[in-house]
Amino acid sequence: MAWNFGRTEKKGREAGEAANAIGAEDARNFCRAVEGIDGLGLWASDAEGRIRYLSDKALARLPAAIAVIGSPLADIFQTFDDGAGSGRSLRFALSRRSRFEKLAVCTGEGAQRRWWLLSGEAQTDEGGRFDGFCGLCSEITDERRIAEENSREAMHDPLTGLLNRREMARMLDRTLRAYKAQERPCATLLIDLDRFKQVNDTLGHSSGDALLRQVAERLTTIVGDAERICRLGGDEFQILVPDVEDRGDLGALAERIIAMLSQPYSVEGNRCIIGASVGIAIAPFDGRDVDELVRNADLALYAAKHGGRGRFRFFSRELLTAAEDRRMLEEHLHDALAKGELELHYQPIVAAGTDVVTGAEALMRWNHPQKGVISPSQFIPIAEESTMICQIGEWALRTACRDAVDWPGDLRVAVNVSPHQFTDPGFPGIVANALAASGLAPERLELEITEGVFLAEGADTDARFRALKALGVRLALDDFGTGYSSLGYLRTAPFDKIKIDQSFVRGTAEAGARNEALIAAIVAMAKAIGMETTAEGIETLDQLAMLRELGVSHIQGFIYSQAIPAEAFLMAAGQPHWGIAPSGPARQRDERISMFRWIGAIHEDHYYPVVLRNISSTGALIEGVEDVPLGTRFVVYFGEGQLEVATVRRAMGEQIGVAFEKSLVSDGNGGLCTRTRISPYDLINAGLPADFEVTTTRTPIAPRDGRISIPAFTSTVGRKAIQGTL
Ligand code: C2E
Ligand code: MG
Ligand code: MG
Repeated sequence: MAWNFGRTEKKGREAGEAANAIGAEDARNFCRAVEGIDGLGLWASDAEGRIRYLSDKALARLPAAIAVIGSPLADIFQTFDDGAGSGRSLRFALSRRSRFEKLAVCTGEGAQRRWWLLSGEAQTDEGGRFDGFCGLCSEITDERRIAEENSREAMHDPLTGLLNRREMARMLDRTLRAYKAQERPCATLLIDLDRFKQVNDTLGHSSGDALLRQVAERLTTIVGDAERICRLGGDEFQILVPDVEDRGDLGALAERIIAMLSQPYSVEGNRCIIGASVGIAIAPFDGRDVDELVRNADLALYAAKHGGRGRFRFFSRELLTAAEDRRMLEEHLHDALAKGELELHYQPIVAAGTDVVTGAEALMRWNHPQKGVISPSQFIPIAEESTMICQIGEWALRTACRDAVDWPGDLRVAVNVSPHQFTDPGFPGIVANALAASGLAPERLELEITEGVFLAEGADTDARFRALKALGVRLALDDFGTGYSSLGYLRTAPFDKIKIDQSFVRGTAEAGARNEALIAAIVAMAKAIGMETTAEGIETLDQLAMLRELGVSHIQGFIYSQAIPAEAFLMAAGQPHWGIAPSGPARQRDERISMFRWIGAIHEDHYYPVVLRNISSTGALIEGVEDVPLGTRFVVYFGEGQLEVATVRRAMGEQIGVAFEKSLVSDGNGGLCTRTRISPYDLINAGLPADFEVTTTRTPIAPRDGRISIPAFTSTVGRKAIQGTL
């Protein structure tokens, strides 16, 4: 075999020398020189593509267990997909029997994997027949590892190793584009940690970083695939959930995430507790491109955080206007106090064994001149976002003390204290001042504090507790059973009472409920350390009986009384040993939500606007249809693409009671929603706009005999969405 080299040949010709060719000896030397260079090797294959020769150094880089010589070249050196789509196959190159250059290939598996660039030239024998290939291989493993590392770094968050914001946006974009063509759904969850900033501020940034890493680990455990989770920055995370539109499943996932992230953390020797809120948007229903979907998930997250934190929330179109409403309320709240629009109502708290009233909780009401009475669960979170809560809270404290001083006997007053007020160093002074100004005995004032103040056990919290206890006031732990529910701090914090949240109480009367055992444990523990227990939100006689049996010392709930205005409370309190007889429904039913809302009933291509009066997960009370036979099946349209098949179970004049075929699920906001919705794709396929909405204002589409007909909707969309069930 003679080797020819273009450059040398040219030089030789210029020099007028003989033809540029090297002999066998030179070739051997030449090969030896090439093989001496690190990372370079020579190879040759036979006419059948089997390896005939491979330099020793290259051989040594291949897994020892493989018999290389005699094996097909394309089995040992495999083409791989480098992600750039340039994965030209070695097999193909060999089959063409022509020269190939720098083909990227790899050998071995796992830790033994190496990458190479392979070049080769087809060889012929003296008779001109194809005789295999020979060529050069150069190893590129190190370069490739560095490049991989660089691209990993460019795609990932250096702190947690999760995807970074840019990569998540890219991945979501890719997924949405691909799924659009295939009409597949895809959900995204935005997660924001509650009170993370306080950990960072009290324990320092390195603890904050360590905590974020633990959060990332917990999220990975739940989701299973770290490459679908992203840290957007700060304490915000995003998860991609392809092919899921079922809101029951997504709500359950969000609840798992919240529960897992709310478990205590051990960070650099400190124990801390944070929470999480989750916003969920699902493509194509809530947005069909990245910007729209993420903006809507963000609105849902915002709503979740302001609905009390530690919650999830699905996007719904009303959130688009809610942001505007909030801005208006915030503006008005600034003046509400000065204009005398805030008022305290008092809800009696009753001794469980005797029905005797022992005190009351002060609950704020806002009498808005245009909007009427606004619930504190709506405006307290707004006040908490600014410094307004401290001002409003101080007003509540002073007012409650002044009102309670006129109550007879030793009736106590409980006042809610926001974590912002509690962390203010001036707070014990404000309490002392309110007591002095009113002349109320300190032991008649109870401050209700939520678990939010315990996020990091620091000296500050302890000192604040000591200062308050030194004033002689009582302390109650409010809303126990929501969010963190850690028994740990009950050992150290000087509480006089635990208030068991109504969400915990709900469900106790159902057979086999776990909550019952948990309440028994809380009560036993509270008794052992000399604390009282109040069960909140008791509405039914069966709940009351159960809680009495479990040994709670106090009860608060509509079964005794709602919160009543100050004058009414003072008047009622005038009776000696004021007692209230419990009255309410016998048993807890499937939770019903009362309302007045226009929805649609679709039956045989006809659409009837009807009024929804109450709803539970399994059925509803509907008003506005007459003479409907029992057993009639029709489709209920709740708006925003939500359809459910219902059967008439009761008929009472204009009202019908219906049972749903599939149970509704929690919307994360105390409401209910259908698991699935009609996809905008189905609407488009039915010739309707993607944001088609049947509302009483948009109907009638074609009035017929006083009935409203929307054939396209019912026959195409309705039937498709509920295929097989109607
Ligand atoms: P909270 O401190 O847990 O107060 C108990 C809430 O449960 C009150 O809601 C009360 O009306 C309601 N409730 C009591 N019994 C029942 C029942 O049987 N069934 C049902 N469904 N609900 C019952 P409200 O008045 O809407 O207050 C909501 C929250 O707003 C309070 O929860 C508290 O966290 C906050 N809040 C109210 N007033 C103040 C205040 O002056 N300052 C601060 N910082 N927060 C306040
Ligand atoms: Mg309270
Ligand atoms: Mg409470």
